[in-house]
Amino acid sequence: MCGKLQVSVSNNGHQSEPTINLDHGDPTMYECYWKENGQDLSLTIPSFQSLSYFSNPKNLCWFLEPKLEEEIKNLHKNAGNAVTENRHVVVGTGSSQLILAALFALSKSVNDPINPVSVVSASPYYSSYPEMTDFLRSKLFEWSGDALCFDKDGPYIEMVTSPNNPDGVIRESVVNRPEGMVVHDLAYYWPQYTAITSAADHDVMLFTISKCTGHAGSRIGWALVKDESVARKMVKFIEINTIGVSKEAQLRAASILEIISLSCQPAHSKPRELENFFKHSHRQMAKRWQQLRDAVKNNDLFHVSKFPTQYCEFARGSTEAYPAFAWIKCKEGIDCEKLFRGHKILTRSGRRFGCDPEYVRLSMLSRDEDFDLFVQRLSAIRGEAINGN
Ligand code: PMP
Repeated sequence: MCGKLQVSVSNNGHQSEPTINLDHGDPTMYECYWKENGQDLSLTIPSFQSLSYFSNPKNLCWFLEPKLEEEIKNLHKNAGNAVTENRHVVVGTGSSQLILAALFALSKSVNDPINPVSVVSASPYYSSYPEMTDFLRSKLFEWSGDALCFDKDGPYIEMVTSPNNPDGVIRESVVNRPEGMVVHDLAYYWPQYTAITSAADHDVMLFTISKCTGHAGSRIGWALVKDESVARKMVKFIEINTIGVSKEAQLRAASILEIISLSCQPAHSKPRELENFFKHSHRQMAKRWQQLRDAVKNNDLFHVSKFPTQYCEFARGSTEAYPAFAWIKCKEGIDCEKLFRGHKILTRSGRRFGCDPEYVRLSMLSRDEDFDLFVQRLSAIRGEAINGN
């Protein structure tokens, strides 16, 4: 044990206590807003509605419900987080399907029958990118790792996640070569997580209802795409993959987004009890981040980064970032995921994000009772250096 770090808990372990799963970014935190504000807001779909595969055969994205398109545009206008003018909206079964649709569309545009297009993202990157890219061993594209180390000539696709999953950092593309194509994954570019500094205006932007409203189970994401031929290829991918996207899920998503937009209106033009969704969630995130920081204060076993304060156009004021995940670094030499597992807290190891095992990612979006239990358990973990002499 010489020079090693031994970790202990103050209450003799947790054998009989429940395991807290913070591995997935399951957004159950939002349940309380919807229970308080959306009890009477339910959607009934008559049996004769939505039988057709088609939503609007005249639209480039023929399976996109017009009501959902309208509410997506309306929500971006209210949040001020993305330009929607002169864009094609492509709906997907979660933004997960749209990531693959975008990789298909962009690599297909390169039209090289021999060499797959390299897919890169700066480490720490979203752990699903490598898995998704190589799962079906496509001849069109292949995972090529950390964008910061990428030095291969030729076309490539860079995934830029901003704010980033896992570490919450605001990002831009890092490779920046003329043959590059960039997909901006903006799943977390919403006012509860970060300052909205301007309306994002990129070629391919991906969003998801999962992290915006918490309705991950509806499996609805959308892409805002500048180039018509790229958008057409993305639609083709979804046609071949699932022949469109569930109409019920789209209609539910449309009504949820409508409520959020309504909640952002001034008090006199909305039902009184409808609290501004983003302000409510922002407050909740700020509280959780404070609880987390308090739990690791004066404990040199853990390091949690600080984020700069920025002016948010949505809130019309300065705000810190409150990311959906905490990216925690343990003291050198410690396998952080293992350490947390020993305390019945499931996290995702830094290894999965192209990083060291000293890091873990853990969800900040669990239910209140799980989060409270987590910070309580976290504050009891202490490291004791054994000098060995
Ligand atoms: N992109 C990022 C960065 C994510 O974190 C996630 C969810 N973890 C997704 C995309 C996929 O989201 P969904 O398929 O639920 O829309």
